[in-house]
Amino acid sequence: MSEPLNAAEIFGEDVFNDTVMKEYLPKNIYKRLRKTIDEGKELDPVVAEVVAGAMKDWAVKKGATHYTHWFQPLTGVTAEKHDSFISAPDAQGKVLMEFSGKELIKGEPDASSFPSGGLRATFEARGYTAWDCTSPAFVRHDAAGAILCIPTAFCSYTGEALDKKTPLLRSMEAINTQALRLLRLFGNTTSKKVTPSAGPEQEYFIVDREKYLQRKDLIYTGRTLFGAMPPKGQELDDHYFGAIQERVAAFMKEVNEELWKLGVTAKTQHNEVAPAQHELAPIYAEVNVAVDNNQLVMETLKKVAYRQGLTCLLHEKPFAGVNGSGKHNNWSIVTDDGINLTDPGKNPHDNIQFLLVLACILKAVDTHADLLRESAADVGNDHRLGANEAPPAIISIFLGEQLEDVLTQLIETGTATSSKQGEILATGVKTLPDFRKDATDRNRTSPFAFTGNKFEFRMVGSSDSIASPNTVLNAIVAEAFAEACDELEKAEDFETAVHDLIKKYVIEHQRIVFNGNGYSDEWVKEAERRGLPNIKSMVDAIPSLTTDKAVELFAKFNIFTRTELESRAEIQYEAYAKAINIEARTAIDMAGKQLIPAALHYTKSLADTVIALKAADADATAAKKILDEATALVLDAQKALELLEKVTDEGASMEEGREQAVYYRDEVKGAMDALRAPIDKLEMIVDKEFWPMPSYGDLIFEV
Ligand code: ADP
Ligand code: MG
Repeated sequence: MSEPLNAAEIFGEDVFNDTVMKEYLPKNIYKRLRKTIDEGKELDPVVAEVVAGAMKDWAVKKGATHYTHWFQPLTGVTAEKHDSFISAPDAQGKVLMEFSGKELIKGEPDASSFPSGGLRATFEARGYTAWDCTSPAFVRHDAAGAILCIPTAFCSYTGEALDKKTPLLRSMEAINTQALRLLRLFGNTTSKKVTPSAGPEQEYFIVDREKYLQRKDLIYTGRTLFGAMPPKGQELDDHYFGAIQERVAAFMKEVNEELWKLGVTAKTQHNEVAPAQHELAPIYAEVNVAVDNNQLVMETLKKVAYRQGLTCLLHEKPFAGVNGSGKHNNWSIVTDDGINLTDPGKNPHDNIQFLLVLACILKAVDTHADLLRESAADVGNDHRLGANEAPPAIISIFLGEQLEDVLTQLIETGTATSSKQGEILATGVKTLPDFRKDATDRNRTSPFAFTGNKFEFRMVGSSDSIASPNTVLNAIVAEAFAEACDELEKAEDFETAVHDLIKKYVIEHQRIVFNGNGYSDEWVKEAERRGLPNIKSMVDAIPSLTTDKAVELFAKFNIFTRTELESRAEIQYEAYAKAINIEARTAIDMAGKQLIPAALHYTKSLADTVIALKAADADATAAKKILDEATALVLDAQKALELLEKVTDEGASMEEGREQAVYYRDEVKGAMDALRAPIDKLEMIVDKEFWPMPSYGDLIFEV
């Protein structure tokens, strides 16, 4: 048995949190910093100077030698540039540990190497990182030693956002302002701030590192480009919630320890549906903190796996034929005094404020379904959304029996007078307690589900940042709140006006509500009839960023300018083409240098066997049959390889942009699949001794 962890003792020990601030900062400085953090008051340079000194003293005590502005460029992963605390040597050759307010507030990484979608040319490479004091700084320990990480936003010289954090913070301001307006209408005079919260459930795969290193596809692309299905897949459902095996349990323990020290509330862990697939969920937090924490979760999963001779795969579809990985984004809106606007309470029909919030969310999601879909688009996620696995690419909202019933009453009779209540669930076993069921069952096929007191957006990809989905959610709901408030603030009779507005929104947007099976073909047809968009690929999702409707929405709340949106669309097209190009080149490399040669070695040995059998006057028909079959497949593979080489070269020679991305999706992806087919068949007949890399079975059943 390994040492038990004392979570209470280690939690947050590497975070510059409120307790540390109180201890290290003079009282007045602490108070002023809190005002900035809690109320968004501007930060005084004098305060920053003192905070910087305190942060440095604290970090140095923890062994830190360097600091970094930790930011989230549009690559989707975090970036950092390390600077040490040392000052220039004095006359005696001694150095001091220094860190100024200026260094805390502003950094200047060379922005030219990060994607900007034409926002600035390389000769105007200035980009600034700015301290986001609403997300706490932390000290990270790794092989490089200890380093003080300061969460920051990343902007260009002219103020355009070059990252995922800046728009997120802007969207939080938008929903705060509009939600407060809405609350005031209902007579709330006490809540000072409304914040969206998120709890992302992170799925991932764990494989053995030695085996991983034998697969170029996993190394270069994060997913397998070849691989025949093993005799057993996930059909028995015996992995889901199954007992966690020792090696993975040890891994999870170290992950928890690391995350708890960093103040990340790792809470739930379990096996997922596919073999070797697992999940980690934190306790929900304010979205900007949740976004940073999720980045830390992903980094920590990778780092700890590496240390333990394992590899963590965050790709959305590492293995064909078994489930891929997503990241359910649970989202709610809560006031500083603890009112959850997305909680209906026991009697939703009586809770007019909740019904208005709900109606606004229906309107927001229906109006901007395309944007929400886009926010979950990444290259890997194309293997999940709209492919043959969960969730579907069509956005709809699951409300459940109770709320659906309330809305039906509203539509049919104009008023809702009752709420269905959960019944007592009799277990039928005397020794087990009977308990009250939730008023609503769950629907696992819905991309956007109401789950009691929050909404669960299930489309997000496992490797993606949750910043974009939350930015979009905040923005579209802020817009709906704003439009509702515009109406209601001028109403003479508020009671009647709010009632009419709820009814109007619900009727206008009821098409977005769907409680049935989201995986069925009937739903695809029904959704089409309802006029709901079914956006099957990332390339098709990107245009929704720059529609007039999107530009207007984001401009209204100063979240994105048209230029910023256009640049983001450019970046997405480029990212898509580049990722598929790498996959294609990797497939070419593996097929040409490893897999086809392996098959040829095998055919050679089969030919030798045929000759030897014939010489011994034995029956060579069986050997000859396999030889012919293998030879035919190698020929198919060669042909497919040639075509893939041709289309990949063609794609690479095209100008970057939408057309190139479309070409990669339509031509290159198909050519990759055509190469994979004969090779996967070859894997099934070639002697395992000859096959140059671990099989699916080796990878997912023998961790
Ligand atoms: P599931 O049953 O879908 O696996 P859980 O009920 O365990 O999920 O919760 C999943 C996530 O939802 C957790 O990260 C949890 O902290 C988060 N969550 C719970 N309540 C809220 C809320 N009000 N707002 C946002 N996230 C929440
Ligand atoms: Mg979930």
